[in-house]
Amino acid sequence: MTPVNRSRLSDDVVGRDLFQFDSNGFATRCPMGHRPIDHRILSGHNSTRRSLHAIFDGNTCRSCQMLDQCPVRAPNHRERGCSPRDTVGDFRLEITPEMRLRDKMSSDQQTPQWKDRYKIRSGIEATNSELKRSHGIGKLRVRRAVKVCFTVACKLIACNIKRWAKAHFYVLNQLLHSFILLLEARLNEVGRFHNNALLCK
Ligand code: SF4
Repeated sequence: MTPVNRSRLSDDVVGRDLFQFDSNGFATRCPMGHRPIDHRILSGHNSTRRSLHAIFDGNTCRSCQMLDQCPVRAPNHRERGCSPRDTVGDFRLEITPEMRLRDKMSSDQQTPQWKDRYKIRSGIEATNSELKRSHGIGKLRVRRAVKVCFTVACKLIACNIKRWAKAHFYVLNQLLHSFILLLEARLNEVGRFHNNALLCK
């Protein structure tokens, strides 16, 4: 589950999921309950790609209290900086299946249920990133499923061992330090014993 990015729109702009559509993908009602006056194939926003648009009556949209939050686009032929409420002509909304799906997913992402489910994925994102950056899991040099599975398993084991060693580094360091001190003490004892033995002779 990858989150969708709708960053070009401000947060208070509602999505196409608040519009109603029929089974053929045509808009039947806007969030304020108005019917579109037409449907046309027009160029998309900032693109030459032509797609399905719902056309809404300009006078209705201009007087609508929800205009600032609505994703409908004002007519193109207007002066730079001209407010949508001061335009002339009808408003339009691109309603391709992809854009409707994107808006639906974007509004789903705001729900606590989605955030709860996403927590699981975000919890392992650091591991995915580490496997890609440090272990090159994104560019394997082997082909065929068996070899790929084996290589991935080896990389996962290496990553786990590295993490385990890092997590236990302090404890291991302390143990090693204690062991060296103990060894030193024992060697000193043995040395003293030998010296005493030589003196007794
Ligand atoms: S701006 Fe137009 S399309 Fe949008 S909610 Fe208002 S009337 Fe409907």
